[in-house]
Amino acid sequence: MLPDDVREVLDAFIISDDKLNEISQKIEEEMVAGLEKKDGSSIAMLPSFVPELPDGSEAGQYAVIDLSGKNLRIMLLTLKGTGCEPDTISNNYILPSTVMKGTGDQLFTFIVNCLHKFLKQFDLLEANLSIGFVFSYPCEQLSIRSAKLLWWTKGFDIKDCLQKDVCKLLEDALELNMSTRAQIKAVMNDTVGQLAAAAHRYGPECTIGVVIGYGCNSSYLEKTERIKKLDSPYPHKEMVVVTEWEEFGANGELEDILTPFDKEIDAASVHQGKQMVDKLTGALYLGEVCRRVLAQLVLDRLLFDGQECEKLDEPDNFPTKYILEILGAADTNKACRRICDELEVPSHSSQDYAIIHEVCHLISLRSACIVASAIGALLRHLGSSRVKIGVGGALVQFHPTYMGMLKEKLALVAPLTCHWEVVNADEGSARGAALIAAVAEKLNL
Ligand code: BGC
Repeated sequence: MLPDDVREVLDAFIISDDKLNEISQKIEEEMVAGLEKKDGSSIAMLPSFVPELPDGSEAGQYAVIDLSGKNLRIMLLTLKGTGCEPDTISNNYILPSTVMKGTGDQLFTFIVNCLHKFLKQFDLLEANLSIGFVFSYPCEQLSIRSAKLLWWTKGFDIKDCLQKDVCKLLEDALELNMSTRAQIKAVMNDTVGQLAAAAHRYGPECTIGVVIGYGCNSSYLEKTERIKKLDSPYPHKEMVVVTEWEEFGANGELEDILTPFDKEIDAASVHQGKQMVDKLTGALYLGEVCRRVLAQLVLDRLLFDGQECEKLDEPDNFPTKYILEILGAADTNKACRRICDELEVPSHSSQDYAIIHEVCHLISLRSACIVASAIGALLRHLGSSRVKIGVGGALVQFHPTYMGMLKEKLALVAPLTCHWEVVNADEGSARGAALIAAVAEKLNL
């Protein structure tokens, strides 16, 4: 049992079933508005110009450049054309923080240098590779090979890239910095890659892809006739739409669930008032919400007997990985004790560990509630009787209780007429990008 004073602070993180439904309803309304108009809805519903998902016949060797957060992954995939899982080799490169806030030239030169290293390492510099480019930020696409960056998220702030075609920027950097015959065949959001990989693995009922990683977003297969805002007629019956639901809340729609801690995080962020869903759900922020709550509990003398803990007062000292470790530990007390030692808390008790555990649980549960309400909105909007939802990203992959909570909450908001299943599509975005590049080639896009 936690003390009442602690409960009172933590209650602010609980989302009632009524609230869950209300948020889900509002998200659905914004989705419909987003399909109709280019502006005016907090959920942008961006056309991807991907007309169909892979059917398992895709074959050949593809390179993928996957920029998601500060992690750049380069991958080589051999698609086998049998619906089997592809063979892959990959390397990860960490983007220096100076590049995340530097210039477009620095960013794209960094990417091309990493690609060069990778291709050289595997003796592929001369290969005639097709490239799938995953760019996990909101883009207005004009075709499958043209993506104008609308705004940055996840702490990036490279001003001279805004409103520019990132596919063209990558092509120019390729031309300038290395002689290669590799060619970009498709540029896409990570959720589109995720969806393609999940559809490849779980079949055509998989029409929704969700990423719950540093940020949170989704894409789904939409009927072209419902994308009213398209400028010109599109010759395919369907198209994948990227919701960019992380912007829901930009018009104050989430105001009544925001706690003072969320407001502080927003105020300290690069893009204030924006990406509220990322800030409430994403792995980039969850640890920081916990840290702020714990620091406040110390100040209120409800944690660690009120003994000062300098480390907890500094941003980013309670990374999201602590949440995963605490909630996943066979022995919670042991995990919390180690983390308290790392945080140099002078002395700590099992009561403190129970509080820390509950903070980690409730902040994770709130994240799962919001994602469930958004998926529920999408299911109602789709109106299909059977849907598989391919979810992936760090919280799905590494959080021990997230998937369970997500399914439990989704059951409260999903339409009763829909037989839905949440399927695990770990690490799918890069795999899916190769598949989409192959689809683009097959359809001559
Ligand atoms: C980005 C989305 C992306 C999501 C998951 C968000 O911050 O705006 O485009 O899909 O993170 O990576």
